[in-house]
This record gives sequence, structure tokens and C-alpha cells, in this order.
Amino acid sequence: ENRGEAIIDQLTGMLNRKALSARAAELAEQSRLNREPVGVIVGDLDHFKRINDTQGHTVGDAVLKNVAYVLRKQLRAFDLAYRIGGEEFVVLLPGSNLERAAELAACLREAVRTDRVGGDPCVTMSFGVAASERGETFDYEAVFAKADAALYRSKQRGRDRVCSAELQPFAEAMTRHLNRRAVSAETTTPSVQREPNGLATLKGFDEQTAGREELIARLRALEGFLRVHPTQQVV
Ligand code: GH3
Ligand code: MG
Ligand code: MG
Repeated sequence: ENRGEAIIDQLTGMLNRKALSARAAELAEQSRLNREPVGVIVGDLDHFKRINDTQGHTVGDAVLKNVAYVLRKQLRAFDLAYRIGGEEFVVLLPGSNLERAAELAACLREAVRTDRVGGDPCVTMSFGVAASERGETFDYEAVFAKADAALYRSKQRGRDRVCSAELQPFAEAMTRHLNRRAVSAETTTPSVQREPNGLATLKGFDEQTAGREELIARLRALEGFLRVHPTQQVV
């Protein structure tokens, strides 16, 4: 018998859940020794049910196969991709922190929407990204949960995008906080917004406003982060 069959998904040729569990345990052990972060990307095809409904299951299968191929082409040899559900994939990135993992997810998103194989219908994919911290032992379940929550946000925000753990809750908490404060203020609500050209800028606040220095400093920091990470989505 062929031992390879048990860890490889027949349709896409990607590794399966069983292989993922084994690799996750390996990376946990490795991170204990080398103190390196591990990035996790979760990707899910957008409105994939529609493709099956309108073009049939055979076309759906072909699309899955091709998307798997397109994803794998973008990855380095040690960044392995796994099919964990019907149209859901995980990539494990040993040595990649959150920023690096988010950059790679941005490349994957772009490749899926542009790198069409043959007469494939247009497909897009949503992504969620998270990573363990340097010096921390990699806990796959915990990091996956964060990446999956970020994927959910990508879907909610309109799909075909990348959302990352950590930054998003911070941006949301900040916006809620600012909104509460703005109720009584005559000025508009301060927020960090993404311009059409992709740059993030601070809007709607008065630099002189007393008592807001701390807040503004944190928003400036967020603005700086978003400048360096142009693919990052804001609320
Ligand atoms: P969303 O953007 O919210 O992810 O929408 P969606 O339609 O992709 O999500 P949903 O989970 O509702 O549907 C996933 C669909 O993926 C259901 C099923 O028709 C399809 N699917 C799952 N596995 C396979 C497969 O192996 N082959 C084919 N052809 N389709 C599959
Ligand atoms: Mg889907
Ligand atoms: Mg799904």
C-alpha cells in the first residue's frame, strides 16, 4: 500500500488534516527549541457554492484543483499548504511573524483572483492571518482560532481580502472608544481610514483637543503600522 495516500488529499494533491496535525506538533516542538514564530494563514473560497450551483460540481472540482495549484506556486518549499475542508485551506509558515504572514496572504489573494487557469471562472478568496510570538511555543489550536476569527471578519467585510489577528480588535476597540467620546463633541469622529490609493490616514480629529494626546499617539502608531502594511484592512 502507498503510505502517501493517507496524508494527501486526492482532489487537490494538497496535504490533508492528518498531515496538518502531525506538522503542527512538529512545529510546536521546533519553536520550543529555536524560539521562532510560526504564521498561520486560513483561506476560504468566496461564494463557492454559486460556482457549483451555476456551473456544476465538475467545474467546481476543477476550480478547487487549480486554486490549490495557484496557491502552491506562491509558496516556499517549507511553507506547506493543507486542505482542511471543502474549499478551505491552511498554510503553515515556520519562521514567519504576523507581518510576514500577512504579506504572503496578500500575495495568495492576488494570485487567486488574477492567475486564472484555462477557462476557469473568476474566483476570489478570503483570508485570515495569525502568528505565534517569537520566543513563544507554537500552539496551533490557539493560533488557528485567531486566524479563523480574522477570516470571518474578511467575509463580513465583503470578501476577497486579508484580515489579521491583533490589529483588527485594536482598531475596532479604538473606533468604539472614539465613537463614545464623539457623541458629546461637536467635531467629527476621529478614525483611521484607507484612502483609495491604499494609504492609511487619520481623519476627523483636532490635534489640539485636550485629553486626547494619548489616543492620538496610539492612532498615529496604528497609522504608521498601516502604512508599512498596505494590504491590512481597517474597519
Ligand atoms: P462564502 O463566501 O461565505 O465562503 O460562501 P461559500 O458559498 O463559499 O460557502 P459555503 O460554506 O456556503 O459553501 C461552500 C461550498 O463549497 C459548499 C459546496 O457546494 C462546495 N464544496 C465543498 N467541497 C467541495 C468539493 O470537494 N467539490 C466541489 N465541487 N464543491 C465543494
Ligand atoms: Mg467559501
Ligand atoms: Mg467554507
